Amino acid sequence: MTGNTRGAQAQSSAPVGASDAATRVQWLRDELDRYSYEYYVLDAPTVPDAEYDALFSELQALETEHPELLTDDSPTQRVGGAPLAAFDAVRHRMPMLSLNNGFEDDDVVNFDRRCAQGLGRPAPAAEEAPQDLFSQADASAGAVEYAAELKFDGLAMSLRYEHGKLVQAATRGDGETGEDVTVNVRTIKAIPLKLRGQAPEVLEVRGEVFMYRADFDKLNERQAEAGEKTFVNPRNAAAGSLRQLDPRITAKRPLSFFAYGLGELQGADRPVTHSVMLDGFAQLGLPVCTERKVVKGVQGLLGFYREIGARRDQLPYDIDGVVYKVNALAEQEQLGFVSRAPRFALAHKFPAQEMTTVVEDIEVQVGRTGAITPVARLAPVFVGGVTVTNATLHNEDEIRRKDVHIGDTVIVRRAGDVIPEVAAVVLERRPADARAFVMPTACPVCGSHIEKLEGEVIARCTGGLICAAQRKQALLHFAQRRAMDIEGLGDKLVEQLVDQGIVRTPADLYKLGVMKLAALDRMADKSAANIVTAIENSRAPVLNRFIFALGIRHVGESTAKDLAKHFGKLQAVMDADEAALLEVNDVGPVVAQSIANFFAEEHNRQVIEDLLASGVTPSESEPAARVPAPLAGKTFVLTGTLPTLSREDAKERLEAAGAKVAGSVSKKTDYVVAGAEAGSKLEKAQALGVAVIDEDGMLALLAAGAEQPDAG
Ligand code: NAD
Repeated sequence: MTGNTRGAQAQSSAPVGASDAATRVQWLRDELDRYSYEYYVLDAPTVPDAEYDALFSELQALETEHPELLTDDSPTQRVGGAPLAAFDAVRHRMPMLSLNNGFEDDDVVNFDRRCAQGLGRPAPAAEEAPQDLFSQADASAGAVEYAAELKFDGLAMSLRYEHGKLVQAATRGDGETGEDVTVNVRTIKAIPLKLRGQAPEVLEVRGEVFMYRADFDKLNERQAEAGEKTFVNPRNAAAGSLRQLDPRITAKRPLSFFAYGLGELQGADRPVTHSVMLDGFAQLGLPVCTERKVVKGVQGLLGFYREIGARRDQLPYDIDGVVYKVNALAEQEQLGFVSRAPRFALAHKFPAQEMTTVVEDIEVQVGRTGAITPVARLAPVFVGGVTVTNATLHNEDEIRRKDVHIGDTVIVRRAGDVIPEVAAVVLERRPADARAFVMPTACPVCGSHIEKLEGEVIARCTGGLICAAQRKQALLHFAQRRAMDIEGLGDKLVEQLVDQGIVRTPADLYKLGVMKLAALDRMADKSAANIVTAIENSRAPVLNRFIFALGIRHVGESTAKDLAKHFGKLQAVMDADEAALLEVNDVGPVVAQSIANFFAEEHNRQVIEDLLASGVTPSESEPAARVPAPLAGKTFVLTGTLPTLSREDAKERLEAAGAKVAGSVSKKTDYVVAGAEAGSKLEKAQALGVAVIDEDGMLALLAAGAEQPDAG
């Protein structure tokens, strides 16, 4: 695993001789410089942060060990990357620095000790922390007070307000000089163009521009649909969106902002503490994250870290750690800065949400509707707090778009509660024998043909009810309440029945006896008997429920009702060709083709035959076509609370009589049925001159069709 090998290499910085060290230091600097350029300037990193961090830590350690090798231009002495010439340069009046990183509890203990010493406080005793988390020791007078907040994963921004008006926005750049991105930042809705209340003469607010995870997912979906490049993570999406030469593009990108720091201030006193300052920002109408706390000593810091760590997945944005800042601004000043970062702050990082690993193979999985999903089998990698060995690749197009080959080193991302995914390929590490993925033509589980309908991205197994992978899901669908309504036939039971080969198709359910069921794991005689009764009771379904139970793609409850009503008999539905199916209300070409395909599969007909042979008898009626529905062609809209019928009942009755029930009123609406507390729909009906009736009026209209066959 190339990525992790490098990581491991990076961490094992055993003492090396001076000349070896010089070579290694140079190599590390070259690598880090290249990665920084890709990350800060191009907004297109090729390796995960964790890998960059490991190399950075190694370089720091070597430079500490061999101070003679330290140079001013080392990445350990510098902030960020050079600003892009395409933007005007902004010279920061106060430098915008980076943060020192900590990964282990010990790093936090050392940070707290350094702060305490720097402030002339008694250093916390080594044995107090972090082992003894519950001791009250640091709450003592000597403990340093910190503001603990989140480390947002976006990019740093300086906002300059003069007399309350936003006059300039600049990126951090190399810390001294940033890029003027004012026009772009003006498009970010979270950033006020004008502050509320009494704003000081000059206020330079610092904070992070970032993207909510949900916004990021939507943006990537849009990019993929448009055939454009997707972003690896929200941070890159935010950085790439902000540094656009055309602000109209930025305006379309869902960017957000949180304020967390103060730069220049004129015409007001600097606040006493960091936390009071953030409260002040919020009062001025600036977005400030509420996930923050004032804590004391190392125990307070670690407590915050754990509390946030436990909730990290639930937060709506990515964070890569938490940040601790000495709370009193006077104390911050006293502690001061080192080359690239303040001494008074520490970024305590969480386990990485992105790591590199190798795609060992790409296999396909068969889902509930036969959807074939390619899945990358990965060399195990610890990412986002779990060991990941698989990641979905969604579909063939996605594999092509991301250009994933078997053998590739890829960046795997697992953020939030979501399933891990392959975010990008590290192309430069593609081995010579890497292989492209080829979609199989036959289902790996049942051997049926795999087809991809025109205009669809998902390939599907046509095996339907005989495909073992689909069987469990198909059985659960068949038995559900709205289909055959077999109570007690749940996940666990279906799993056992299929895995032990007892049930292959829904028809086999009708051969189950109490003895066979009771022999299964965790199945008492009584529950076995109940299930057998439930199966017995399901033998005479209404036709539309039976059709729905078959699990034909695109045939939901409502289409099943339309089919039942139109054809009246199961055999007629089975025999209908696409042209005949197209005559059914609301059935279009895609649905017609799917129904015809289903019944064309010999094994699906066999299952239906077996069901009928085992005594399942769906109801029959005269086809609706011969008895025109009384309300066919009429459109109704329901609004308000009807005196006796529920909205659902009313809808079902109207539909059974051939009417269409729409959600909103238009000129095409024939009747609005209004109940108590009817609102805007009633007003609109009146405005458009649409007939408004009450429940009695509706029942009167329906009465004409009361004796009509009702498939539902
Ligand atoms: P950093 O991101 O580790 O920390 C400093 C930054 O944190 C600030 O500039 C600010 O933008 C941000 N921040 C978020 N919340 C904050 C808060 N509450 N208070 C203060 N600051 C807050 O440092 P950096 O110098 O921007 O970047 C270094 C990091 O960037 C590395 O740790 C690495 O993970 C990543 N990086 C990755 C690559 C790559 O190729 N993958 C290359 C370069 C850098």
